[in-house]
Amino acid sequence: MPQRKTKRGAERTRLTADADVLICGASFAGLTVARELRGTGARALMLDRYEVGERQTSACAAPTEWLEALGLEGSIRQTFRDLVVHTPHADARYRLPWTFSTFDYRELCGLLQEQGDAEFETAKVDGRTGATVHTDRGDVSAPLLVDALGWRRVLGSGYQPPDAPLSRGLEVHPGDSGNDLEIWIDRRYVPAGYGWSFPAREEIRIGVGSFDPRFHVKDTTVLLAEELGSEAVRYQGNWIPHRLRDATEDGVFFVGDSAGHCLPLTAEGIRTAFYFGIACGRELRAVLEGGRTGEEALRRYHDFSAEHEWKFRWMLRAQRLVPRVPPRLLGPAIRAMGTQRFVDWSFRHYLNIAPPSFAGAPRPAPAALQAAA
Ligand SMILES: Cc1cc2nc3c(=O)[nH]c(=O)nc-3n(C[C@H](O)[C@H](O)[C@H](O)COP(=O)(O)OP(=O)(O)OC[C@H]3O[C@@H](n4cnc5c(N)ncnc54)[C@H](O)[C@@H]3O)c2cc1C
Repeated sequence: MPQRKTKRGAERTRLTADADVLICGASFAGLTVARELRGTGARALMLDRYEVGERQTSACAAPTEWLEALGLEGSIRQTFRDLVVHTPHADARYRLPWTFSTFDYRELCGLLQEQGDAEFETAKVDGRTGATVHTDRGDVSAPLLVDALGWRRVLGSGYQPPDAPLSRGLEVHPGDSGNDLEIWIDRRYVPAGYGWSFPAREEIRIGVGSFDPRFHVKDTTVLLAEELGSEAVRYQGNWIPHRLRDATEDGVFFVGDSAGHCLPLTAEGIRTAFYFGIACGRELRAVLEGGRTGEEALRRYHDFSAEHEWKFRWMLRAQRLVPRVPPRLLGPAIRAMGTQRFVDWSFRHYLNIAPPSFAGAPRPAPAALQAAA
């Protein structure tokens, strides 16, 4: 079990100095934004209520090419070329044109953080007035504000389940091992959504996600784990946004789940947090280097995110359609979609919604940079 390291009691002194850039949230999205600001000389301050990497926020599976493009291979636990899909009446094994890897959350966050030079403090962010962010350790102001706080969108207009467009996901992490990346589209586990089993070398992440926030997934997560012969231990769950939102609001940049950047249907939100995090970080960097005003950066980032709206809309349509397919037709449908040509075509399009090439060439590790200096 991870040890609690978050600052407590006397360690929680008041945050005093203001920053040039304040990044709220230090998970996939926030750390990626910070990484883009390395070497600008600006004071970038990152806040999170937990230490970096302390609280895993997902099953941690992402396209391997994205992890490689960001120099995060060291965190990989297992790599999968096949995706096994189970339905009540038939199963299919898809050979993907690219691979998925599961990774260790703490290690990945540590590697991402090393690639940036932002300062980090643990603080709970409570809200914002203008350019001032209120935290449980005092107020901090910055001309450039980033909300990478996840679905709550604390620095903007928030959402409340169960009325907001949010899915819910819950998983357990038994200390077992497995060979396949598997999903279940089966109403026994969830009327609209899917179950999964993602092995990660020393543990398996078994869970259920429901597109309908009113459906409680705890019992069926336990059921799936039991049916796979695993213990339902070490729970992890959260709400997952499934609709794209404005990526800027009232002068704030929103990245990752706070902007609804998680893809509908698949609930894949890690690589999109990387992707939009890089886009946001590049805009901020241009401001810090004097090439752009904050207003221009807000507009450009907003427009970049909004250009993807139609892709998110199509994914949301598919999310609404799949649960309506009668179970007896699901088997033939997933088999028909299993021709190699269709799998290659569809998964390439899917990857291209947020392609790894966007990350550019991998950066040298900081140690290599020091050695070269
Ligand atoms: C059960 C489950 C499994 C999933 N599996 C996958 C998967 O395998 N692959 C995939 O691509 N996606 C997966 N997702 C979706 C993915 O986890 C999210 O889309 C992704 O985490 C979004 O990254 P983020 O950085 O925007 O937000 P988050 O990862 O949610 O990070 C938000 C950060 O903000 C901090 N924070 C929140 N509120 C405050 C506050 N008030 N003050 C200070 N700090 C705060 C949190 O501590 C956290 O560090 C899964 C989601 C769930 C729920």
